[in-house]
Amino acid sequence: MTKEASDMSATAAPAAATAPPKKLPPYKLTSRITHPEDSRIRLGEYEIGGPEFVVMAGPCSVEHDPQMLGTAWDVKVSGAHIIRGGAFKPRSSPYSFQGLAEEGLKMLSKARELTGLAIVTEVMDSTDIDLVESYADILQVGARNSQNFSLLKRLSKARKPVLLKRGLMNTIEEFLCSAEYLLAGGNDRVILCERGIRTFETATRNTLDLSAVLAIKERSHLPVIVDPSHASGRAHYVAPLSRAALAVGADGLMIEVHCSPETALCDGEESLTPQDFRALMGSLQELAPHFGRKISTLKPGAASENPPDSVAASMAAAASAAE
Ligand code: PEP
Ligand code: MN
Repeated sequence: MTKEASDMSATAAPAAATAPPKKLPPYKLTSRITHPEDSRIRLGEYEIGGPEFVVMAGPCSVEHDPQMLGTAWDVKVSGAHIIRGGAFKPRSSPYSFQGLAEEGLKMLSKARELTGLAIVTEVMDSTDIDLVESYADILQVGARNSQNFSLLKRLSKARKPVLLKRGLMNTIEEFLCSAEYLLAGGNDRVILCERGIRTFETATRNTLDLSAVLAIKERSHLPVIVDPSHASGRAHYVAPLSRAALAVGADGLMIEVHCSPETALCDGEESLTPQDFRALMGSLQELAPHFGRKISTLKPGAASENPPDSVAASMAAAASAAE
């Protein structure tokens, strides 16, 4: 091309200012078009959606004080930022353990007092929002309720951030529309969680859609975390999938950890032991800087700290009662 021709083609190219405006998707406030910057959600010392790779960990269900306090202590000394545990459990069978309801919330609250970490727990029903909100720091909406629009509308008025899990059969557009219910009603402190979707595959409990992290981040400003425990259903898949989530750009993880997975009342087969969780946190801390992240919770020597005597005594009592 002559210089003249290349000058002409440069002037012929459409100027950015005259490009047609991007069409807004049905999830307007959730979209990056209306909010180009990443959203960050502050929780105490940390922001979810910033450089810190935030790890939420704990048992599937709150079962009793020694289990909850012991596990909470273990995940804290291993570097978790937030404690998880369900007090209202969405179980496929009505005969399975349904959770301890308010009694479980009180145990979570004790775990927060013991560790100083924030707690995330599921709210299943609109009528329980006030109760759960009076204990929790983050309100979790489970996969089965991801399109419960009346629950989402009520949660849009909550004072606490919401962790919204992707529904078992939801497209990314449907998932972002669910988030939109929260933002449209006034709650913009929303964290999205990819927890695996249902496919034809039966080798794993669900199919972890890691590309969803990229697709969501392209479309939305909201932070995205990954739950490799419910996605895979297998404890020994959790660590490699967690590292993959960090590599693909997730803002954090939600991981099931139980002080005694073989006696867990729910999801023991996908729960890490505290020792495995500690090893995973060590590897994530090493890898994080390679992906522009950090995990600043692990302090030198912290991993050797023992729980206070009262917690150690109740854990020992629970262990001997289980024998
Ligand atoms: C949970 O995190 O406790 C849970 C029930 O997960 P999900 O809603 O993703 O199945
Ligand atoms: Mn579970």
